[in-house]
Amino acid sequence: MIAKRMIKYVEGSSVTRAMFEEGKRLAAKYGADNVYDFSLGNPSTPPPEDVSKAMIDIINEESPNKLHGYMNNSGYEEVREVIAQSLNKKYDTNFLQENIIMTVGAAGGLNVILKTLLDAGDEVIAFAPYFGEYNNYVANFDAVMVVVPPNIPDFIPDIEAFSKKITKKTKAVIINNPNNPTGVVYSEDVIKKIVKVLEDKQIEFGTQIYLISDEPYREIVYDGVQVPYLTKYYDNTIVGYSYSKSLSLPGERIGYLVIPDEADDSQNIICAANVANRILGFVNAPSLLQLTVAKCLDAETDVSVYDTNRKLLYGKLASLGFECVKPEGAFYLWVKSPDEDDRKFADRAKQYNILFVPGSSYMCAGYVRIAYCVDTDMIKRSFAAFEKLAYSYRQEG
Ligand code: PLP
Repeated sequence: MIAKRMIKYVEGSSVTRAMFEEGKRLAAKYGADNVYDFSLGNPSTPPPEDVSKAMIDIINEESPNKLHGYMNNSGYEEVREVIAQSLNKKYDTNFLQENIIMTVGAAGGLNVILKTLLDAGDEVIAFAPYFGEYNNYVANFDAVMVVVPPNIPDFIPDIEAFSKKITKKTKAVIINNPNNPTGVVYSEDVIKKIVKVLEDKQIEFGTQIYLISDEPYREIVYDGVQVPYLTKYYDNTIVGYSYSKSLSLPGERIGYLVIPDEADDSQNIICAANVANRILGFVNAPSLLQLTVAKCLDAETDVSVYDTNRKLLYGKLASLGFECVKPEGAFYLWVKSPDEDDRKFADRAKQYNILFVPGSSYMCAGYVRIAYCVDTDMIKRSFAAFEKLAYSYRQEG
C-alpha cells in the first residue's frame, strides 16, 4: 500500500502520462510524421559539440578515483570556482566558490533550497501561470503554496496583487524568468517593482523573504531581450540555474544554486544547503557533468532554431485568429483557448493529432502551452492540422 500523500501526486501526474500515451497511440495509428506533439519541454537542438568533446577528454584524462568518487556535497571546489568567476565576469558580481552549490538540475536545486529554508506552514509565493512542479516541491516540506493570479493578457506580474499575498509567514517567492509557460521575460522595471514590495514587506513584518530565481531559460531569449541578474537588485536572492535547456542536457541532471554573501544568514544557508543536498539523497551533483560544464562555460546552444520555430508558429497561429502571447524567451507559445475550458481545447486538438498542454497544469485555466522545441519540419507539417482546428471553431461561430 502506497503512502496516502502519494495518491494525489500519482493522480496529478496522470495528465502528463496520459498525453505521452496518447502521443504513442496516435503515432502507431497514423504514423509518427502525422502526429504533432508539442507537449514536452525537451530541447530539440543537440548539445554544443564542446560538451561531448569535454566529456570524452575528462573520461580519458581525469583520475578515475576523482572522477567517480564521492566529493564535497556542494561539488568540486574548482568547478564552483570557475562558475563563480564566469558569473562575476558576465554580471559584474562578486561570488566566491563557497557561494555556488552544484545541484541535480534546477529541480534538485529548488528542492535543496526549499528544504534549507522552509519550516512546516511557511508560505511560498509564485506568479501564475508557473511550472506546476513548484506545488510538489513546496509540499515536500509541508509548506503552503500561495498563488498570485495571472495578470491577463500580458502575464507580467500584478504588483498590487503580489503585495497583498505577502504575510509574516511568507518565507520565499519563486520567480521564473524567462517564463515557462508564457515565454514572457520580466524587464528590469518589473523586477525593481517586485523588489520594492519585498523590501517594504520585510521591514513591515520584520522577516526575511527570499527571492528564489529559477533560471533554466536564462540564455534562451530572442530579439536581444535582456534578463536582469537578480542578486544585483535584492540581497535576499538565491539563484537556481540549470544546464538542462541552455546546453540541451536535461537527462544529465546538472545545475547549481548561487547563495550570495549579501543574503541574510548566508553562511548558515550555504552550510544547510550542503547538508540538504546530502540528506535529500542527491549527495552531490553528477561528477562527470560538473567537470564537463566547467569546461563549457562559453558554449552556447543554437537559439536560432528555436527563434525560427517561434516565428513560424506564432505567425501561423496568429494568422488563424488564435490569441497568442509573443514569446520573448524560453521555447513555449502561450495561447488563449477558444473554449472556456482549456482541457476541451486540448482534447479537440488531439482529434487533429495535435498535442499540447492545458494551462490548468500551470495554474491558469483558459490558456494552453505549445512547446516549440521541436523539429522545424514538424511545425510546418502541423499547419494544415491547425487550420482544421481553427476552422472547427469558426464553424461554431
Ligand atoms: N523550472 C522550470 C521553470 C522548468 O521549466 C523546468 C523544466 O522544464 C525545471 C525547473 C526543471 O529543470 P531541470 O531539468 O533542470 O530540473
